Amino acid sequence: MPQELPKVYDPTAIEDRWAEFWVREKLFDVATPTGAEMSEANGNTFTILLPPPNVTGRLHMGHMLNQTEMDILTRWHRMRGETALWLPGTDHAGIATQMMVERQLAGEGKTRQTLGREAFVERVWDWKRHYGGAILDQMKRLGASVDWSREYFTMDERLNVAVREAFVRLHEQGLIYRGAYIVNWCPRCQTAISDLEVVHEEQVGKIYEIKYPLADASGAITIATTRPETMLGDVAVAVNPADERYLKLIGKLIKLPLSAAAGKPAREIPIVADDWANPEFGTGAVKVTPAHDPNDFAIGQRHGLEAINVMDERAHIALTGSAYNGLERFAAREKIIADLDALGLFVAAKEHTNSVGRCDRCKTVVEPTLSKQWFVKIQPLADKAIEAVETGAIRFTPAQYAKTYFEWMRNIHDWCISRQLWWGHRIPAWHCAECGGITVARETPTKCAQCSGAKITQETDVLDTWFSSGLLPFTVFGWPTADGKPNADMAAFYPTSLLVTGFDILFFWVARMIMLGCHFMQDVPMPDGSKRELKDAVPFREVYIHALVRDADRQKMSKTKGNVIDPIDIIGRFGTDAVRFTLASMASPGTDIAFSEARTEGYRAFANKIWNAARFLQMNVEKAREAGYKIQFKHSDFRHFDAGGVALQTDDLEFRWISTRLSEVAQAIDISLSTYRFDEAANTIYQFFWGDLCDWYIELVKLKLDFTLKVNKKTEQAVYNFILVFDASLRLLSPFMPFITEELWQALHEQVSETGKPPKRSIALSRYPRPTDFARDPLSVSSMETLQRLVTTVRTLRKELGVPEKEAAPMQFFAASINKNLIETNKLILSRLARVSEINFVPTPPTGSNARSTMEFDVAVEYEKQIDVVAERERLTKDLVKFEKGLMAAEKQLGNEAFLAKAPDAVVVGLKKQQAETQMMYDKTKAALEALAK
Ligand SMILES: [Zn+2]
Ligand SMILES: [Zn+2]
Repeated sequence: MPQELPKVYDPTAIEDRWAEFWVREKLFDVATPTGAEMSEANGNTFTILLPPPNVTGRLHMGHMLNQTEMDILTRWHRMRGETALWLPGTDHAGIATQMMVERQLAGEGKTRQTLGREAFVERVWDWKRHYGGAILDQMKRLGASVDWSREYFTMDERLNVAVREAFVRLHEQGLIYRGAYIVNWCPRCQTAISDLEVVHEEQVGKIYEIKYPLADASGAITIATTRPETMLGDVAVAVNPADERYLKLIGKLIKLPLSAAAGKPAREIPIVADDWANPEFGTGAVKVTPAHDPNDFAIGQRHGLEAINVMDERAHIALTGSAYNGLERFAAREKIIADLDALGLFVAAKEHTNSVGRCDRCKTVVEPTLSKQWFVKIQPLADKAIEAVETGAIRFTPAQYAKTYFEWMRNIHDWCISRQLWWGHRIPAWHCAECGGITVARETPTKCAQCSGAKITQETDVLDTWFSSGLLPFTVFGWPTADGKPNADMAAFYPTSLLVTGFDILFFWVARMIMLGCHFMQDVPMPDGSKRELKDAVPFREVYIHALVRDADRQKMSKTKGNVIDPIDIIGRFGTDAVRFTLASMASPGTDIAFSEARTEGYRAFANKIWNAARFLQMNVEKAREAGYKIQFKHSDFRHFDAGGVALQTDDLEFRWISTRLSEVAQAIDISLSTYRFDEAANTIYQFFWGDLCDWYIELVKLKLDFTLKVNKKTEQAVYNFILVFDASLRLLSPFMPFITEELWQALHEQVSETGKPPKRSIALSRYPRPTDFARDPLSVSSMETLQRLVTTVRTLRKELGVPEKEAAPMQFFAASINKNLIETNKLILSRLARVSEINFVPTPPTGSNARSTMEFDVAVEYEKQIDVVAERERLTKDLVKFEKGLMAAEKQLGNEAFLAKAPDAVVVGLKKQQAETQMMYDKTKAALEALAK
């Protein structure tokens, strides 16, 4: 005999064990398909890429939601017989990881500069080897059914080769260039950051008005600026050509204050006319500093002005010979204002609210700086990526994200891909000290491609992290291949089926994958050698954008608010299955989740209910065997799923009904999961398991499990069917609650299988029930519902009449013939579930306080009500007063001509109906009171 299931459901006792089992047994590893398997699996694969969490990360509720959704879908597809591949990995996360290790070094009194580049990078690798697996270990605990044999890290050597190839190809195609450009510079991180990594905040600062004297000493022009320290790099003053105040000054020269340095006189700069200058802003005259402002950079380009960079990478003034050289930018600002004031050139400082850009990582104020950076030319990449979504080759759910995507893609600028970090894929370009040329190469060169000089050094910048992660959908499958043809993995798994991700990285990552996927994969032919169309070059066919997990009060979780829920902590308290089920039951496209522990507690109780049902079944199988039944299954007995037929062979109502319900539930889940309605799918299986299966089916089966009788077919069939129904129900639930279903399914098969082993190594590898697996009999559902209503009605009546729990009572019944038959053939159900001792069919509907009427039947429980006359009179009198008041109010309103003239017909009809109902209740209560007096 197999081990008895413990009395109490304890998730901690089973979840770790199965999580380890799934990984150890490599259950979800998908081997590269061979030719024969490929043609067999053709069109029957489900491939999904895990959005790689940062290697520095820890699991949060967002991950848990995202991974629960991915796991439900992957398990569901796998159980449907598809080759389901879910690929895990982590991202090297340039800035985040570098910052983390730098902080560690700071604790030891070191900096990365004192360590040197090579030693620093080695140190980061060290860190990664020690701690980098933490988030994936947490993922294993969630039961994520990923293929661990394919785990990648975005800095892996094979991915590095792919990143280099992609860079070199884009360069060869003229799509990568190096240029001077205004970038968002973070003086703390000492790197350029993308527009998306800058957070803008409204801040109260100052706007300074400064007098710039004209070179011919004929006067001055007053400019307004929020960053006076940049004036050291001014090359012009701009005024609006329509601004009459300054018309006469256009073309004149200015002697730039404070610009004299190291014996050189002050620089003279022109006043130019440019539409950018806004007559309404400040004084209407603005200084032009192309090296430190993106708009000024554009003005500089329009007027052919030079750009003077006045700061170093720490945002300290870097002007040899200048009085401000070496000063930090905000210290320089103070000194400049003081010096201008001393010269009588400072006019005023006014309070001013403006938007300040800060580094998303470290919150340092970003300094727009002109620097040499590497760029990807965004066309034709962007147009192709737009076409992929326009033509439906990629579909977004919720659909409105396609609109957001288009808006962004149509206004996209060239993509700055260089970062001044040490941790990342180093750009494969070499600068020549002799001719100044650049050599871009796949293999490390020994000489300059232009002058053959040997003095070449590699570019110090690394690539934006999103550049490498943007290539993942094809690099994980081994792109580039030596012959340029798709390898077996690419042939089987590209394009991937689906991407599940959050809105926050729609542009960072999703858009870039689409651009790079369409661009590179269009050059890879199809497996049959034909040209790949755009629809097959896309990195994924569908994108599902999941919602946010908020706290129970719908507040965003944040460390400062202290309302962050740690998934590992909550799993420890309620079990993974209950937490997964909570998230699934609330997850629908476009709706944020208000995570509540009360709900999780409820789903833990649900798991408990399932556990108890399994124990009940296990116990009865044993009892049946003791009574002489041979309860033993061949694995093929469970193949009814494959045969497309049903094995539930009996004419009894409850079996025809549960079979129909199983079919309906399987169909409803299919529909819900195909449309990402995780909530609907979870609620369907919940209602079925708790309501249909536990509350009714098991209660009905119990009636047949009488082992005191001698061995008979009916009892045997009842046990047999119970096992088949329970097996199918566990399978239906498995993608949502993988742990408890695995435990119970294994225990069930251990007990009933002739080999003592389940038909598959895991429930996750068994077949998902299909609607066609179960015979449908719609009439059985309506009959069962009538019976259920009857049982419920009798139970309510018994309660109202105060019939003691254990005491049976006769029942009067009036109904049309069909229901009469139903009741006659299911007397046992009524007698046991509603404690009916005798059914008396009556010729007219019974009435009175012991009767109830419904559309289908009229029923009464024959029982002398034992009542407390005083209390009952009090209750009835109270009711009577209430109904009286209701009637008076109704009469008043319906007697009001003005009201009747204005009120819509429906309202009047409703009121009249309500009045009639109140009248009926009034009459009934009055009659009851009179009866009481007798
Ligand atoms: Zn920063
Ligand atoms: Zn050279």
